[in-house]
Amino acid sequence: MATKRQELQTLEHDRAWFESDVLERFTRYVQINTTSDRRNTITPSSEGQRALAELLAKELRAIGISDIYLNDHCYLIASLPATPGCETVPSVGFLAHLDTSPDISGESVVPVVHREYDGAKLALGHGYELDPADSPPLVDYVGDTIVTSDGSTLLGADDKAGIAEIMTAGAYLARTPELRHGPVELVFTPDEEIGRGMDRFPLRRLQSRFCYTMDGGLEGSIEPECFNAYRVHVTITGQVIHPGYARGKLVNANTVASEFVAALPRSESPEATDGRYGFYCPVEMRGGLGSAEIDLIIRDFDMSVVERRLAFLESLARSLENKFPGVEIVLESEQQYRNMLPEINCNPQILELVKTAIRALGIEPRISSIRGGTDGARLTEMGVPTPNVFCGAQNLHGRYEWVAVRAMVAAAKTVTNIVLALADEHG
Ligand SMILES: [Zn+2]
Repeated sequence: MATKRQELQTLEHDRAWFESDVLERFTRYVQINTTSDRRNTITPSSEGQRALAELLAKELRAIGISDIYLNDHCYLIASLPATPGCETVPSVGFLAHLDTSPDISGESVVPVVHREYDGAKLALGHGYELDPADSPPLVDYVGDTIVTSDGSTLLGADDKAGIAEIMTAGAYLARTPELRHGPVELVFTPDEEIGRGMDRFPLRRLQSRFCYTMDGGLEGSIEPECFNAYRVHVTITGQVIHPGYARGKLVNANTVASEFVAALPRSESPEATDGRYGFYCPVEMRGGLGSAEIDLIIRDFDMSVVERRLAFLESLARSLENKFPGVEIVLESEQQYRNMLPEINCNPQILELVKTAIRALGIEPRISSIRGGTDGARLTEMGVPTPNVFCGAQNLHGRYEWVAVRAMVAAAKTVTNIVLALADEHG
């Protein structure tokens, strides 16, 4: 049965409702301390994440979404059922993470709402100022509302902007029954910032065969690509003897370890690369005369380049064994995550949908690559392609973090439009 196509939302459509709903949610969520804790091996690593997940579950019920799964590890999946006639439309999911970065305090965050931004420096509080010269995207929001912290903490827009946007879109769909849509899943996860966000993900509870993480930056940006990432652990075993009687006998593991690191190509280091160029990076060294260890990470968008780097490390180890007879060098490599682009490209509709959703807002989508990984990359590996979409957060993981309300509205409407466009294609 052919049904009439639904009009996608523009930025103006119900704008006042979107602005106040997303801003109200956002300022409420950032006040809950959800800093994750690297030293805690329990999931979630901090109790504040549970408090936020429970608040979200309560708010979801209040907006009429009753199918809520929330487990002890703080994974929350809320399902909005299809509207009548749209039961066969594929399910789609939207993800955001509950925690904030442990690199700066997230305790007692005081959100400061700067209305009608005039383009000048913004006074945060505690003597700190946000200067548009250091954060050029600010000038795109003159006349708009900007939210910052009071300078004493981070803001937590990464990723509470994403949470607020998904919640606002869910609330809008729930309160606007005339909009046709298939099943929609709102998914909130713990401990992304400490790299454990997908460790205990309840994949079997997720119906959607593709999703979007709302965890990117600039308004209009889509990130379907991330690094391929490997960790390499190098163990160097030397020959120990009293240093006073060591001539011709000692093989000092520290000496070999420092040669190993010095032999890494400087032009392929994080500090010498950007854009599409990847790198080697020694992240930690420990050593003594008898043994030394080096932890390295390898990153590149192109898997064949990663393989070339792994082969280089192996041949470097063998050549140092020749140079320092008696030393033994063992390499152990482990994949951390991989570039999600090949999987996402298997279903071109995933990117087309989000581009259509953003274009309807009068914004030209920008495709870029993440020089890192995301929970979406891990989910993609589990078989659920999940590109990253903007949430509007800027200057992440620091006191100068900010977000514009217009960008949050655009992201909430991107979610809404994806859902509407999907129903149109399959309804
Ligand atoms: Zn994030």
